[in-house]
Amino acid sequence: MSIISSNNMLKKAQREQYAIPAFNIHNLETMQVIVETVAEYQSPVILAGTPGTYSYAGTENIIQIANELSKKHHVPLAVHLDHHEEFSDIANKINAGVRSVMIDGSHLPFDENITLVKQVVEYAHRYDVSVEAELGRLGGVEDDLIVDSKDALYTNPTQAIEFVKKTNIDSLAIAIGTAHGLYKSEPKLDFDRLSEIRSVIDIPLVLHGASGVPDKDVRECIQRGICKVNIATELKIAFSDALKQYLLTHPDANDPRNYMKPAKAAMKQIVEKIITTCGCAGKL
Ligand code: 13P
Repeated sequence: MSIISSNNMLKKAQREQYAIPAFNIHNLETMQVIVETVAEYQSPVILAGTPGTYSYAGTENIIQIANELSKKHHVPLAVHLDHHEEFSDIANKINAGVRSVMIDGSHLPFDENITLVKQVVEYAHRYDVSVEAELGRLGGVEDDLIVDSKDALYTNPTQAIEFVKKTNIDSLAIAIGTAHGLYKSEPKLDFDRLSEIRSVIDIPLVLHGASGVPDKDVRECIQRGICKVNIATELKIAFSDALKQYLLTHPDANDPRNYMKPAKAAMKQIVEKIITTCGCAGKL
């Protein structure tokens, strides 16, 4: 077992109409929970890390841990770069062993986004690394990435055709009304826009900002052609709420191996819920 590109798993998900969950990782414990749970459910998975996560935990550490977990649990793992914006940073992480990347040029004007993405694709494809890019712009907060809702932009289907053709990317993240982080009110997703994009684009489509989106809406997105579902905030909240609760009721606790247990158990429930929603159990 090993670190793999996300290409084949996403293509299979697209053919068979389910989605691959991309869970954001932050440390050893979150990696353990995710890999143990996907092994139990025989689910394919993408382990996603923002630039902040890689600098916090260390790229080599993440890759080594993922390698060991993959061997131990007999699950191939796509270790993925989430919302990376710099070519040199991506190239360095590919050289370190990452095989699945997102280049996020969604803050740039259309032509500059294309130029940056093309540069990453040309480099990444030499090493069989899959590349995701974003067109349109999600609002909300994802680590250091903060986008005011007034700057959020829905994906334009006509531009998407040109973007995919000119960049040769492997998957496209689209903006249809989701946002990173928590929602103030239930999000209203533009399902028709998703269907329109699906009808003109044949590569896998990615939904960011799935935390707080009702399960039925995530399922509808999958039926209409989403094959990768990104989730971070719900995992963090489950983990930290359980940890806080445990420490409040056990003020003398001082062993991370013990006080992390309820946090891991709470996070596992979210991982299970997302696997069910994505319909990816047994698809390994
Ligand atoms: P949430 O934090 O809203 O789940 O979004 C995660 C995400 O899209 C990571 O790229």
